[in-house]
Amino acid sequence: MTTTTPGLAERAVRAARTHRAADPDGFRHRHDNPETWNRWARRARVARTIATALQVPVDAVLVTDDPHRTYPARTGDVPGDLITITDRATGSAWRFIPDHTTPGQAWLLLDHCPGCSAEAPVARVATLADLGDHLDPDRDTRPVWENQKTADHQPGCTELHSAAETAARGATRRSVG
Ligand SMILES: [Zn+2]
Repeated sequence: MTTTTPGLAERAVRAARTHRAADPDGFRHRHDNPETWNRWARRARVARTIATALQVPVDAVLVTDDPHRTYPARTGDVPGDLITITDRATGSAWRFIPDHTTPGQAWLLLDHCPGCSAEAPVARVATLADLGDHLDPDRDTRPVWENQKTADHQPGCTELHSAAETAARGATRRSVG
C-alpha cells in the first residue's frame, strides 16, 4: 500500500476553503487596503511562528480577529489576534492570544476558568514544554494570574478573587523581605 502526499494545488485549494469557511470576512477583505493586507501577512507569520514552537503543521493554525479583545493602534482600536490550532490527531481546538510581554515569541493559552467557566488565559506558552507543564503540572507550576483581566471573567469569579489575594500577599512579602 502506498500513501500519497497531496500536491501543492490540492493543499492550496483546501487551505483557501478552510479560510473561507472559518473566517469569511477576514479572507474576503484581506486585499481591501494596505492595513488589511498587512494584518493578513502579519498573521501568516504568527501562524508560522506558533506552528514551529508547538511542532504542528502551519495549516493547522488559523489566526482571526479576537471577538473579545482589542488593542490600541495609531489608527484607533484594532481587533487582537485569536489563534486557533486544530489538532488533527484528536480534532480538538486549542485557542491562544498574544502574550504582549513577549510579542511574537509566546502566547497565552485560553481555557475555561475553574472559578467562573469563562474563557480566560490559563498558561503562558513559548514552547511545547510550557504547554506540557500546564497539562501535567508539578508543584513549581504557577498559574498565569499576572495576565488576568477582570473583563475575561464573570463578576464574582472565585479564582480571580483568590488570585488577587495571592498577588497582594506576594507583594507584601516582597516589600518586607
Ligand atoms: Zn473566572
